[in-house]
Amino acid sequence: MTSEVIKGRPLNGKADYLPFVNPATGEQFGSVVMGTEADVQNARREMATAARAWAAKPVKERVRIVRQLQTLLIDEMDEITAVMNQDNGKSRQDALAELFMTVDLINQYCNRAPRWLRRRRISPGLQIFKRCYIEQHPHGVVGVIGPWNYPLVLILPPVISALLAGNTVLVKPSEVTAATGVMIEKLFQKLPELAPFVRFLHGDGRVGAALVQSKPDLIFLTGSTKTGRLVMRAAAENMTPVVCELGGKDPMIVLEDADIEAAARWGAWGAFYNTGQTCMAVERIYVVESVYDRFLEAFLEETRQLKQGYSPEIDNLNDIGPLTFQRQVDIIEDHVEDALTKGAQIIHGGNRDGMYMEPTVMVNVDHSMKIMREETFGPVVPIMMVDDEVHAIQLANDSNLGLSASVWSRDLARGERVAKELYVGSVNINDTMSHFAIPRLPFGGVKESGIGRTHGKKDLLQFTQTRAYVVGNPPLPFDIATILRQPGNYKLGSGIIHLAFGTSPKQKLKPVVELIEDKEVKPKARKVGTAVGLTAALGAAIIAFVLRTRK
Ligand code: NAD
Repeated sequence: MTSEVIKGRPLNGKADYLPFVNPATGEQFGSVVMGTEADVQNARREMATAARAWAAKPVKERVRIVRQLQTLLIDEMDEITAVMNQDNGKSRQDALAELFMTVDLINQYCNRAPRWLRRRRISPGLQIFKRCYIEQHPHGVVGVIGPWNYPLVLILPPVISALLAGNTVLVKPSEVTAATGVMIEKLFQKLPELAPFVRFLHGDGRVGAALVQSKPDLIFLTGSTKTGRLVMRAAAENMTPVVCELGGKDPMIVLEDADIEAAARWGAWGAFYNTGQTCMAVERIYVVESVYDRFLEAFLEETRQLKQGYSPEIDNLNDIGPLTFQRQVDIIEDHVEDALTKGAQIIHGGNRDGMYMEPTVMVNVDHSMKIMREETFGPVVPIMMVDDEVHAIQLANDSNLGLSASVWSRDLARGERVAKELYVGSVNINDTMSHFAIPRLPFGGVKESGIGRTHGKKDLLQFTQTRAYVVGNPPLPFDIATILRQPGNYKLGSGIIHLAFGTSPKQKLKPVVELIEDKEVKPKARKVGTAVGLTAALGAAIIAFVLRTRK
């Protein structure tokens, strides 16, 4: 890719470029000019206008147009993985894995969007003369802000969800992988039916902040917990809803009945894949005492076999590449240093050559150390011995973060039981990280790991607002809505409450019994009252039955 300049003027009156730098080689291979505040405002206005035309299209028509992106991603996969490899340092195959997950998600969402978004009938309760339904309407303009560690699969899916739901989109890719952001923008520009409904804003956090200030109707952020706080604070000024997919400190628990070889293999993979720069990477491992030595030995064996290096070729046998972002190097080294000072020990790796950091295994760790408590986001994994399952659960939950976790046991029922005790968004039993690659399985965090979910029906629906409709002729005199609004109907209202919502036959029939027992009421009136009461009770029972079957 050659050097290029996209529209936009400098922020702060001076030319601000985002260089495209290959982290594996340090070589600069292009740049893009950052967007300005005026660019953000103009894009916001343009997308607000375009939103009407896009939302007016039937869902099936939006699906037809979005499918063109699926086709293009498959047609251009080699060019796409080449840019990602140069931009992020990840292998072509790891870039392909991102593309795989992206097209899988587009495919499944396109198949299901018409069903997920369709209008639904809702029971009117006792207001039986009304017809109720709900529809999903787009928010309007959605702002999608993304990170650098998975610059394709963490940008395109929220953009696609927003579009399928009928929104137009402002996209702010990460400044660290700006070349991938520009590449994705070019893909959209190749699709004339889709391009008018998406605008890209290239730049750093200042452009992200300007996007938030421009008052989009919904913000979808994937990034650090620190940025999550900043974005939520700024968005609160305008009451803009925010979905946050933030950092993690995912625990892996190895129980005494685990398949130790498999746990070691996939645990090492989960810790070091993408050089540990994954939100749901295995960031800490708890192993029950009786299998600790065996697990450690197997884990070290797996780690020793990992090949580290960079290649721009499709045929590449390296398992892990360089780190992508210099800021991350400082955080990782700070965590390692802090742990060593407090008595931890490195038993594998620990060395760094520029952006290449060896896969590193630490032991003698405890929860006073940053390496056990804060997101490290690098190829370092601490392994801690625990007494038993209860101890493992307690330590796994001892965190401000709660993205996901993994549990290893041959007894799947036990694995599920332990999983239920973990306060996280997802639990993977006998595997690591694979849960993210299931497009209809909700993914997201609790605690400081985020708000909202990506993937699945709820993901798509969060890009919509629910609008409720009640349809009917003006209220009839014997409509419950009339009775309760008409003064003088207290006793009637009370009787209806008993009959319709009483929780036992005795409570339901209380007004009828009171009427029968009332000495003041003349016998004939009592008979009439009894008949009316029983008829009403029967009527209520029939209504309740009909309502239940109509749901
Ligand atoms: P980051 O928070 O530094 O940046 C994320 C994005 O926010 C970037 O595009 C950045 O320019 C933008 N940004 C920065 N300041 C902003 C501001 N004030 N207003 C608006 N936008 C602003 O995160 P990162 O370093 O790019 O990504 C790594 C982090 O993302 C890690 O913490 C990782 O765990 C997390 N992450 C989470 C998930 C998830 O699904 N939960 C997935 C991947 C990464």
